[in-house]
Amino acid sequence: MLHSLEAWLRAAAGRIHEQAPALTALDQAIGDGDHGINLDRGFAAIVTALDARATAASDASTSPQTSPIGETAATADLAKLVGRTLISTVGGASGPLYGTAFLRAATALATLPTEPPPSAGLAFVTSLEAAAAGVGALGKSTTGEKTMLDALVPAAAAARSALDVGAGAKEIVAAARDAASTGAAATIPMLATKGRASYLGERSIGHQDPGATSTALLLDVLADVVA
Ligand code: ADP
Ligand code: MG
Repeated sequence: MLHSLEAWLRAAAGRIHEQAPALTALDQAIGDGDHGINLDRGFAAIVTALDARATAASDASTSPQTSPIGETAATADLAKLVGRTLISTVGGASGPLYGTAFLRAATALATLPTEPPPSAGLAFVTSLEAAAAGVGALGKSTTGEKTMLDALVPAAAAARSALDVGAGAKEIVAAARDAASTGAAATIPMLATKGRASYLGERSIGHQDPGATSTALLLDVLADVVA
């Protein structure tokens, strides 16, 4: 789980960097044209934090060990670091929103029963649901308002349904990826009522929401990583 989170974050940083111009172009149409730049800055900072953590861990392995924490607790710790990094490095609405998504996921993971250890699928579903709830609470937003929630909420629901019918982690993540991508496309005809795009009123119609697009992109990367 911890390993997948780290691999996902590193792969996501690469894809976000590559897709930054496309995300920014979407934000140019209905916002202020910085979404790709914002996320690129945030994910580059995450990679820097991961590298610093890896160096600290290898230094610690040569000194007396403190007792190791469990896998889920370690994953929660990393998600917390990611949330804080995004909040402190990303300007714009998406930094605090994505940052809160990771912080809420961290809290939800940390409160899962540890005996028996949660499956990767359950940990993922729990994280995604907490992330969606966190974004909605901070953004005072819900689905149908042309935001990242239009990708995140259906992704969490699809992941929960897949878990409920006994799917494994790969299938669960693939279900979330597919739902997020459908959800992002469904923002095109929507009227934006939250965030900067709402200032455009009717002119927001006909463009795909940048945040929903980046959410779909992040889940697409995760599906590749766990496949
Ligand atoms: P800013 O809008 O401050 O320039 P970004 O361009 O980085 O920040 O992010 C814009 C994205 O943030 C939007 O496309 C939308 O998906 C998301 N967003 C904005 N406001 C909200 C909100 N209140 N709730 C959920 N998502 C939001
Ligand atoms: Mg913007």
